Amino acid sequence: MATKEEENTVFDVKAANVLTQELRDVFASGKTRSYEWRISQLKSIVKMCDEHEEDIVDALRLDLSKPQLESIVYESVMMWVPHYSLAFDLMDILRLFSMRKPCLVQFCLAGYSGNEILTMVKNSCALAIKELKRWMMPEKAKTTLTTFPSSAEILSEPLGAVLIISAWNYPFLLSMDPLIGAIAAGNAMVLKPSELAPASSALLAKLLPEYLDCSLIKVVEGAVSETSALLEQKWDKIFYTGSSSFLGNGRVGRIVMAAAAKHLTPVVLELGGKSPVVVDSGIDIQIATRRIIVGKWGCNNGQACISPDYIITTKDCAEKLVDSLKKELEAFYGKNPLESKDLSRIVNSNHFARLTKLLDEDKVSGKIVYGGERDEANLRIAPTILLGVPQNSLIMKEEIFGPLLPILTVSKIEDSFDIIKSGTKPLAAYLFTNNKKLKEQFLMSVSAGGVVINDTTLHLAVHSVPFGGVGESGMGSYHGKFSFDAFSHKKAVVYRSFVGDASLRYPPYTLGKLRL
Ligand code: NAD
Repeated sequence: MATKEEENTVFDVKAANVLTQELRDVFASGKTRSYEWRISQLKSIVKMCDEHEEDIVDALRLDLSKPQLESIVYESVMMWVPHYSLAFDLMDILRLFSMRKPCLVQFCLAGYSGNEILTMVKNSCALAIKELKRWMMPEKAKTTLTTFPSSAEILSEPLGAVLIISAWNYPFLLSMDPLIGAIAAGNAMVLKPSELAPASSALLAKLLPEYLDCSLIKVVEGAVSETSALLEQKWDKIFYTGSSSFLGNGRVGRIVMAAAAKHLTPVVLELGGKSPVVVDSGIDIQIATRRIIVGKWGCNNGQACISPDYIITTKDCAEKLVDSLKKELEAFYGKNPLESKDLSRIVNSNHFARLTKLLDEDKVSGKIVYGGERDEANLRIAPTILLGVPQNSLIMKEEIFGPLLPILTVSKIEDSFDIIKSGTKPLAAYLFTNNKKLKEQFLMSVSAGGVVINDTTLHLAVHSVPFGGVGESGMGSYHGKFSFDAFSHKKAVVYRSFVGDASLRYPPYTLGKLRL
């Protein structure tokens, strides 16, 4: 492990160089290539999650005041996955009851009947453990007449030493999920958690060396200077989760990509963007509202990359939608949401100031139809709905990444497509409709990292589909087998024998040979 505190030295370019060289040396020994090494590391992660569930929840509470249950359900410890998973973890449900949250159990069961509730990180591990042998197997490929007789296959080989840089908003999940992919694919790695979630970063730096092979899996804590030192090094892949051009330090995705380009290092960039929700008429408005709320405020109080960023609906529908949002928000978070224990706080004062600036812009301040309350001392902002904000307002230009939800209105719902397309390609796009034709038009005309019809954020939980962005919302993808692939090189291998050697292939290229 290479934490600043323990070594009591500055982690500079020289230290980063020594660290990567160490990693490369151990990687060259071939240790990570074995199935046994990979499985043992994955199993240790499950053990770590089991043995330190409380520590993880505590760290998330310290960093973000994340409600315990939200941490458990969404981030580190449990999740529901679709019903094609066979197991049903009764213990987890009982645990929810014991935490006096039967409503959540009902919610899980009613909304996701037959689903499994499991840890998100543990779930990724469980899938990798179950599938690893199959993933590692050479994949048979077809050959053509040109190479006859021959056979071919695709070998997945580890890339080497990889760098994982994660963000603060889901500091445990966004560190561990790519790490699981990198381990499954047999790489050596450095994890650089976000300095904006210091408790989670410190916990990862403490736990990972205790549970994992620290000659091949290292944690470097720190901020810009430490990350820059790491980015100076030659890596075999850089996996970055964070902002592109909208937030905080801004443009970091571009900094990472520029640093990678110097060494021709491939990158996965898991960035953000403005994820729209289109709400059509003729739907079950209460269900739609609840699903929008849980995707927005139920996910880290809007500080999630795939949280709904804004809604577009028709003028006719807007009033009904606002009424429903008000009613359900009050039912979920009470009359004084600033005091609700079910909402995370804003991560720090910079982000608090950024969000209040969006809210206080002249063009926008008169548009608040619900919420708007804030508590600077405790970094809390209430769920806030704005109706009819102009498209040229700041709030519609930047990724919001917080509890503010503007609603735009259009004359006909199809006009929403042009609004979405006038911006950069979002990480996620959501549509609520019963209209088959509208669904098809939406899928055809809106480009986004992922789409969910009649719900929000759930594609994150479906490990058989890739999770990632497109255009400015990112490049590359992960989750499930896609994580393994993200950290593997697909080596093409063609096998030939010494029979069937056609003379046509060799000079001199005479016509006589063609007349064979
Ligand atoms: P952040 O501030 O934690 O930054 C991310 C990482 O970049 C951190 O590890 C940080 O140390 C490092 N970093 C910051 N400035 C740097 C610099 N100048 N040079 C090198 N490294 C630097 O997180 P953030 O950027 O505020 O994260 C929020 C953004 O991330 C949002 O845009 C959100 O949509 C996006 N996000 C995307 C995903 C996804 O899966 N696609 C997930 C979470 C967040």
